[in-house]
Amino acid sequence: MSSETIVKQSLETPTAYTKFNADNFNAYVMNTYGRFPIALERGEGCRVWDTEGKEYLDFVAGIATCTLGHAHHVMMATVSEQMQKLHHVSNLYYIPVQGELAQWLIQHSCADKAFFCNSGAEANEGAIKLARKYAHEKLNIENPTILTAHASFHGRTLATITATGQPKYHKGFSPLMPGFYYVPYNDITAIESAIAELDKDKRQVAAIMLEALQGEGGVRPGEITYFQRIREICNEKGILLILDEVQAGMGRSGKLWGYENLGIEPDIFTSAKGLGGGIPIGAMLCKSHCDVFEAGSHASTFGGNPFVCAVALAVCQTLEKENLLANVQLRGEDLRTGLKAIAAKYPNLFREVRGWGLINGMELNSDVELTSIDIVKASMNEGLLIVPAGPKVLRFVPPLIITETEVMEAMDALARAIANVVK
Ligand SMILES: *Cc1c(COP(=O)(O)O)cnc(C)c1O
Repeated sequence: MSSETIVKQSLETPTAYTKFNADNFNAYVMNTYGRFPIALERGEGCRVWDTEGKEYLDFVAGIATCTLGHAHHVMMATVSEQMQKLHHVSNLYYIPVQGELAQWLIQHSCADKAFFCNSGAEANEGAIKLARKYAHEKLNIENPTILTAHASFHGRTLATITATGQPKYHKGFSPLMPGFYYVPYNDITAIESAIAELDKDKRQVAAIMLEALQGEGGVRPGEITYFQRIREICNEKGILLILDEVQAGMGRSGKLWGYENLGIEPDIFTSAKGLGGGIPIGAMLCKSHCDVFEAGSHASTFGGNPFVCAVALAVCQTLEKENLLANVQLRGEDLRTGLKAIAAKYPNLFREVRGWGLINGMELNSDVELTSIDIVKASMNEGLLIVPAGPKVLRFVPPLIITETEVMEAMDALARAIANVVK
């Protein structure tokens, strides 16, 4: 072997672009996603178009992210205005619009303070770091544990896959992060015994981290009595309650925050997906009593830059001005009525329709051979985009601006798709 390496000269030749589709994409991009075989290139409102010109009604919304749909006039105007003014300077300086976004979020939630980052996983990383620092400094716990739930989803960084209570996301990535312990969701006895057991083991519980409604893990709403009892336990023992609002928050549940459906307030919560309406932004918010961060504790180069904050603020203000929560509640009712009507036609196929606002799931019976992917593919053929939440649950998370007519149209497409796969 020669000790000399030939270094490829980066910008010597002009770039030759390919027309990309399902057949050649993975030649260049790492194959980390099980992609569906269409390539999307344009969107407007609740519709998107692929490179062949086929139109789809979008009940995925970038996975519960495009709050205002595609090409929304407020977002377009804000993006353009903010780019002309200032888009990135780092957090070495004060950013007025970041302050305004923090103020909006705090005035419309139980939190007192906000930290901005770029994604849901990062927001949860921030919450985990804050909880650990709080445990060391305020609770004098040397070896703190964070309880999380089976079938949860908290992101793809090492700490957040560890927090995620699904073995399939852990496979191949050991050693995982210490300091997490899993309990079944909506099971209060399991929480109580885990706290007692870890206490004896000198791995005291410092925080409980949960989704108000489990999204990825199968669209499972939290139970009110469960969360209220958890809040009591946390109060009694000084444990922090962290809610991951990345998917169910920002109005998707019919309330601004998922926890409002449960009649409790968390100490810390995280937001991302719908917050920027599709512009990458995440936030970690907390009550003042648990804000133990100081200068240097945590940081992000991009986090809360003027561009993303201006767009997220515009999304928040549009939600407020256009009273979109009312639309989420009404269209959610329409959607569940439609789904239940379809489920009733195929009692052997479907088990349950459930959800809050515009995050809804339709679960297949465990003994049927069909998987959620089969129905997602059949729906795509009928011009409807939906997304699985596990192998047996279909997830419906359209933009919050969806109309009654569009919900009906989606139900027609879904009914045709199901008729095609069962015959
Ligand atoms: C999507 C999701 C995340 C991860 O967000 P990313 O932006 O992909 O890092 C975390 N928690 C929940 C509940 C989510 O749905």
